[in-house]
Amino acid sequence: MSEWDEPVWLVTDAGDGPEPGRAPLEGLAQAQALARAWGGGVRVILLAAGDVRATLVEAWRAFGADPLAVVRGPALASPEVRARVEVVETLLGRGRPLALVVSSCEYAEAWAPRLAARRRLPAVTRCVEAVALPGGLRVRREVCRGKAHLSLDFDLTGDRVPAVLLLEPGSWAVPARTGELGARGTVETIHLSAAPDVGPVTGVGRVRRILPNPGEIDLEDAHLVLGGGGGLGSPKGFAALRETARELGAAVGASRIAVDRGWARPEEQVGLTGRQISPRVYVAFGISGAREHLSGVAEVEHLVAVNLDPRAPIAGVSRLFAVADAQAVVRALAAEARRRVRGAAGADRLSRVG
Ligand SMILES: Cc1cc2nc3c(=O)[nH]c(=O)nc-3n(C[C@H](O)[C@H](O)[C@H](O)COP(=O)(O)OP(=O)(O)OC[C@H]3O[C@@H](n4cnc5c(N)ncnc54)[C@H](O)[C@@H]3O)c2cc1C
Repeated sequence: MSEWDEPVWLVTDAGDGPEPGRAPLEGLAQAQALARAWGGGVRVILLAAGDVRATLVEAWRAFGADPLAVVRGPALASPEVRARVEVVETLLGRGRPLALVVSSCEYAEAWAPRLAARRRLPAVTRCVEAVALPGGLRVRREVCRGKAHLSLDFDLTGDRVPAVLLLEPGSWAVPARTGELGARGTVETIHLSAAPDVGPVTGVGRVRRILPNPGEIDLEDAHLVLGGGGGLGSPKGFAALRETARELGAAVGASRIAVDRGWARPEEQVGLTGRQISPRVYVAFGISGAREHLSGVAEVEHLVAVNLDPRAPIAGVSRLFAVADAQAVVRALAAEARRRVRGAAGADRLSRVG
């Protein structure tokens, strides 16, 4: 039996603080519950770009993290997720876990699905519950933005490939801090000597630089960005947003839904797998505010949102939130912008942000 044959692995970024964060601890609680049911332990794997404080390691151990491996290397500093995919894939060569629990953190939503795609592992995002079954696993995940749940049963016998579970934070209690250090007391540090040599990742093509269309303002230079999402309803709705942006001298941003539906171009996507923007004002029309989208607008000075749903997550992060039909608002703005451009002596009379 290999040293790495614990049935459950927890993989998480180490973080900068002296204590593990709440989300990784929730991950540990879930991993421990599964491991107990399967009659084994949890291997905790911390990914870190640089030194990890001794106090952090001791704190993890006091929560029962044993054995613990710290994988360190400058390649892990980068938001580029390939290094993480490569590291975890390499570690999977050392053992045969049944479940790879990934606690939600800044980059996990990007690397965990890629690892699963590359290794053809079953993967579930937004898990709110995972229960061990004999030779299998029952997982409940959120769908429809938390309004419904889907229950999935996995048969983990046979090839014994691990299920990758990306946990939804806030769904589990954190484990008790027993203060008793694990019996094995194994803390291993693995140094990445250089950026891992990563082969092609399934489903990800060659990177090319995409230049903005001439006459359009680039997202990263804009002082005002108008963003459109699923709530714009149709290509026509998005075209009205584009027209308004042109008249106002703003750049156009889009949620992934808008890009997936073909209303916007991939280079207009804002978010985790899109662009990071930092305008003075970002107005989000019909965008729910999924965390993958919000990770692209962290540097925005003033976030304004128009949404029919007062409980949309974007409401919680907006400086100004209007409960309104985004399609009607965009149509009215486009008409007003046209009227002002035509009626005024020149486009300079339009008030521009910046
Ligand atoms: C690994 C990964 C990476 C991802 N990367 C990104 C990324 O980079 N960027 C990104 O955006 N997403 C990304 N996503 C997808 C993300 O999780 C969401 O699915 C996406 O952001 C949702 O887009 P949306 O809010 O426009 O659409 P929806 O979720 O469909 O929400 C539409 C919103 O519009 C509102 N609405 C509906 N009709 C109207 C109306 N008439 N007027 C006003 N409001 C209305 C609804 O209330 C809702 O809030 C990623 C997902 C994964 C798993």
